[in-house]
Amino acid sequence: MAVESAEVCIIGGGCMGASTAYHLARLGIRDIVVIEREAQLATGSTGRNAGGVRHQFSDPANIALSIESIALLERFEAETGTPIDFWQDGYLFLLSSEASEAAFRANVSLQRTAGVEVEWLDAGEAARRVPGLVVDGVRAATFCARDGIADPNGVTMGFAKAAQAAGVRVMRDTEVTGIDIEGGRVTGVVTSRGRISTPMIVNAAGPWARQIGAMAGVTVPIDPLRRHIFIAQPEKGASWDAPVHRGKVPESRLMVIDFETSFYFHREGAGLLFGMGDPAEASGFDTTVRWDFLPQVTEVAMTRLPALGDAAITHAWAGLYEMTPDHNPIIGPAGDVAGVFTIAGFSGHGFMHAPAAGRALADVIAGRDPKLNLSPFAHARFAAGRAGGEQNVV
Ligand SMILES: Cc1cc2nc3c(=O)[nH]c(=O)nc-3n(C[C@H](O)[C@H](O)[C@H](O)COP(=O)(O)OP(=O)(O)OC[C@H]3O[C@@H](n4cnc5c(N)ncnc54)[C@H](O)[C@@H]3O)c2cc1C
Repeated sequence: MAVESAEVCIIGGGCMGASTAYHLARLGIRDIVVIEREAQLATGSTGRNAGGVRHQFSDPANIALSIESIALLERFEAETGTPIDFWQDGYLFLLSSEASEAAFRANVSLQRTAGVEVEWLDAGEAARRVPGLVVDGVRAATFCARDGIADPNGVTMGFAKAAQAAGVRVMRDTEVTGIDIEGGRVTGVVTSRGRISTPMIVNAAGPWARQIGAMAGVTVPIDPLRRHIFIAQPEKGASWDAPVHRGKVPESRLMVIDFETSFYFHREGAGLLFGMGDPAEASGFDTTVRWDFLPQVTEVAMTRLPALGDAAITHAWAGLYEMTPDHNPIIGPAGDVAGVFTIAGFSGHGFMHAPAAGRALADVIAGRDPKLNLSPFAHARFAAGRAGGEQNVV
């Protein structure tokens, strides 16, 4: 497909690009092209994430993004026609240090003030709610029943298909290689399929957003960080639901996070999905699975969910978090170049915030009130050295 001009060029066909396109189209801005380097949408970070969706954040701005996003996910199929396999079986955070207990007490108070129902549990109650869970050393836990997991591919395709039905064009297999700027304004995007004249670009390139920003002369402080996910079955080909394995892991899709170690797990069909951050991981674009990291994860996993000690790892992949210095995203106009907008840098919690973030950016682009406090997400905060940011990053 050759495109010569567009009112808005969205660079990146992950959940952010798709959500922004959908919400712009709903506002009547339809002369849009979404440009994606890969053959399919949602193959970047979006296609490699754990699907987790939660209200439980420390920054009120993120709690607000969650409230709006989760409400949209709840009506997603009715609004877009695409199912997203959304299970609201809750998120349970396990807290083992005095510091995290104090921080979560403050977070829960903020969440409740915003109208989110979050429970404060003791370790015994946490154990009662999660078959197979060991709570040695756990001081307290928090639980929000409306948190859950959904299908990132479904959400991205749902937004993209609805946007396309409204007239938005999607160019796959097309790489952006340059951005033309004249007199401090965007005038065009150079791609592997030719140049597109445009006065506006949206940088939705996730972990690659720094590179796209540089093409426009804008510094975008986002660095890629590899994160692993493993899938376990009790033994190859067997389900955790088989009578012999029942009770060793949860039957529901509940997400459990051991906050001190960042080890987390949830049921994924007949298997169990789990992961953990590696504090030694340096930033970079390599997404090769480091199998030598697995024993480190398993060592922690066995202390919380002993069933994983004997399990068969049937599948593993690695993807990239898109880290900013304060672990909050950048949403809005970028730098001094007119016509450049950014929606990237969600630092590992972007899938769940794509619905509200795309809606808010669409409003900004259309010159409307975004109805959310976007100042914690402003590009200018880095130059201003503003303190703050998100503490509850897993
Ligand atoms: C292991 C893992 C687990 C995660 N778990 C969760 C979770 O449970 N919950 C949650 O909310 N978030 C989670 N995340 C984070 C989440 O996946 C991201 O925040 C989110 O997907 C970011 O979406 P995006 O659209 O900004 O980026 P991406 O999905 O990476 O999309 C960017 C797109 O830009 C394209 N692109 C880049 N450069 C160019 C170019 N030059 N030309 C054209 N196209 C280009 C890329 O191909 C890519 O498709 C996880 C991430 C990982 C890696």
